[in-house]
Amino acid sequence: MIVVIDGPAGSGKSSTAKAVAQQLGIQYLDSGALYRAATLVFIRANEVTEAFLELLKENQILFQFKEGNFEVFIDSENVSEEIRTMEVSNLVSTVASMPQVRAHINRLMNKVVEDGMFIADGRDLGTAVFPNAVLKFFMVADAETRAIRRLKDLKNTGVEVTLEDVIQNIEERDHTDSNRAADPLMKANDAIEIDSGTFTFQEQVDFISEKIKPLIQSHN
Ligand code: C5P
Repeated sequence: MIVVIDGPAGSGKSSTAKAVAQQLGIQYLDSGALYRAATLVFIRANEVTEAFLELLKENQILFQFKEGNFEVFIDSENVSEEIRTMEVSNLVSTVASMPQVRAHINRLMNKVVEDGMFIADGRDLGTAVFPNAVLKFFMVADAETRAIRRLKDLKNTGVEVTLEDVIQNIEERDHTDSNRAADPLMKANDAIEIDSGTFTFQEQVDFISEKIKPLIQSHN
C-alpha cells in the first residue's frame, strides 16, 4: 500500500512524510534521493550520457529507512550525505528529465513498494508512478518559505550556501521539473492540497496521519 506526497522543492514534504512514517510505524521512501543518487552516478561518469547510462545499469541504487533516517547507497557505498551537495542539487533536475533515468528509478520504486506500507514523496508520484496510490497529497508553500526551509536543512548538514544560491536553485529546479516532457511536477486531480505555510509542522503530520490510520487498519 502506498500513500504519496508530491510538491515543489522545499515545500516540506520530505520532513512531513518522514515524521508521518515514524508516527505510524510505516516505511518512508524519498524518491528525490534516488534521483540524487543517479545524479552522483552521472557526475562519476564525467557527465557523459552514454557512459552514465551504462554505469547506472551496473551500479545498484539501494535505500533503507532506519531509525528515522533515509539512507541511500550506490552498491555498498553510503552516499546519503554526498547526494545533498550543491553540485548534485544543481544537476539533479537535468538528470531527472532523462526518460531512461525516470524509467529506471520508477522500476526500482515499484518493485520495492510491492511489499509493506509506504509513504513516499516526490514530484510525479501521484500522476505517473503510483496513479493508484490509496491516498495522495500535494504540498505547496510560497517560494521564500521554501528557500528558508532548504537553507536551514543544508546548514544542518554542514553545507555552506547563501539564501540567494538556494532561491536560485529552487527556482531553476521548479522550472525544469514543471516543464519537462517526461512526467513533470503536477498535482493529481485526486490529491489533497496542503499549504504548509498555514499549518504548524505537527498539525500537518497529524492531519495526514489521521487520514492514513483507517487505511492501515483495513490493510492489516
Ligand atoms: O526531493 P528533492 O528536492 O531532493 O528532489 C531532487 C530532484 O529530483 C527534484 O528537483 C527533481 O528534479 C527530481 N525528482 C523527480 N521526480 C521525483 C522526485 C524528485 O524528478 N519523483
